[in-house]
Amino acid sequence: MTPPAPLPWPAMLGEERRRRYVEVRTLGREVLAAVAAAGEEARVNRLLVTSLADHGLVPALFPERHGGSRQSEVSAVELCLVREALAAESTEAETAFAMQGLGAYPILQSGGDELVARWIPEVAAGRAVAAFALTEPGSGSDAGALSTAAVRDGDGWRITGTKTWISNAPDADVYSVFARTSGDTGPQGVSAFAVPGDAQGVTGEPLHLLAPHPVGTVRFDGVFVGEDALLGEVDRGFRVAMETLARFRPSVGAFAVGMAQAAFEATQAYVDERHAFGGALRDLQVVAHKLASMAVRLHSARLTVYDAAVAFDRGEDRLAFRSSAAKQHATETAQGIVDDAVQLHGAVALERGHPLEHLYREVRAPRIYEGASDVQLEVIARELAKEARPG
Ligand SMILES: Cc1cc2nc3c(=O)[nH]c(=O)nc-3n(C[C@H](O)[C@H](O)[C@H](O)COP(=O)(O)OP(=O)(O)OC[C@H]3O[C@@H](n4cnc5c(N)ncnc54)[C@H](O)[C@@H]3O)c2cc1C
Repeated sequence: MTPPAPLPWPAMLGEERRRRYVEVRTLGREVLAAVAAAGEEARVNRLLVTSLADHGLVPALFPERHGGSRQSEVSAVELCLVREALAAESTEAETAFAMQGLGAYPILQSGGDELVARWIPEVAAGRAVAAFALTEPGSGSDAGALSTAAVRDGDGWRITGTKTWISNAPDADVYSVFARTSGDTGPQGVSAFAVPGDAQGVTGEPLHLLAPHPVGTVRFDGVFVGEDALLGEVDRGFRVAMETLARFRPSVGAFAVGMAQAAFEATQAYVDERHAFGGALRDLQVVAHKLASMAVRLHSARLTVYDAAVAFDRGEDRLAFRSSAAKQHATETAQGIVDDAVQLHGAVALERGHPLEHLYREVRAPRIYEGASDVQLEVIARELAKEARPG
């Protein structure tokens, strides 16, 4: 059965993008969900990554000249569409797709020609798995306080430190690693490197989080990388991290919207199937209104996400406001919608393995990673203060 496109479809997206959404969702439903389900908990599912690549989704993240299938870098709208459509069918497929982009974009955008040629075609083909390694045990939201150190050693660098809560660790083939090259603390003095997962001195272990996708710790124990592993300029690596995170920020919201859409659709069907007090659940006004409220919140979250994505692609103003609003509003709203869906299903939704039980666990983490909701509000608050007090 062809999966539905959300109703109402956002007017700003148009018919071609609606077809793209349905195409990706169909692929997620008919092919990827089963491949994802066969994976091992907390480990990278390599079959899933190759399947995402073989069906053209991962190549669509990268330019043709680097083994991808697009003219240029991926647009924020395409990223959001694919993430939303995949999330509605398989959250594991969604995160596997997104991480190939998040992990590899620092290399694509800031790596030298040889480094890009070494990694991007492999990542695009799904043969190499990428990871983005910024967070440390002692620095999360305050990422600029990181302490992993890179010191010069002959014609290269030696990296020592621990990164934690890293998606795709410890199984990734390449890590975009952010390490301190000067100063004691703060974003200045951070540099970015591409580190192969099989380099001597790289170790790690999986973590078992409430989020069902693979996340782990990775340690660098005097790992040597050549000068060509540097991404961008020395001491300017924080900017590399922020550029990638800015491109992906609205799409974290899209991931959340996709999960909320799946929860909403399940509830739409269930309130007619389930009978109580002599009629369908939908006949109870409280239930019908809760469903209406879920639909309105879902629509508003989706509009915020695509507004930010369209603005990013067009280079419009108020990007920080739009992207932070999209991420904050969509992830918080999705949590509420999934919670309402669980409520309207009752106990059955809490059974281990029920789609809503899975969504209930998966929807929580995006409110924390890639800038917690509170941090996004802080960004918005600063933007508002700038507007109110120009100069
Ligand atoms: C499933 C999952 C996957 C992840 N994947 C990756 C990855 O691939 N790569 C990576 O580098 N990291 C990853 N992370 C880590 C993630 O980015 C961090 O968890 C996040 O940055 C928050 O850091 P923290 O958990 O240390 O919380 P802390 O920084 O300790 O913050 C705790 C809380 O304090 C509040 N807070 C902190 N600072 C502020 C502020 N300035 N204003 C207002 N409130 C504030 C917020 O409520 C915040 O949630 C992942 C995390 C999870 C859960």
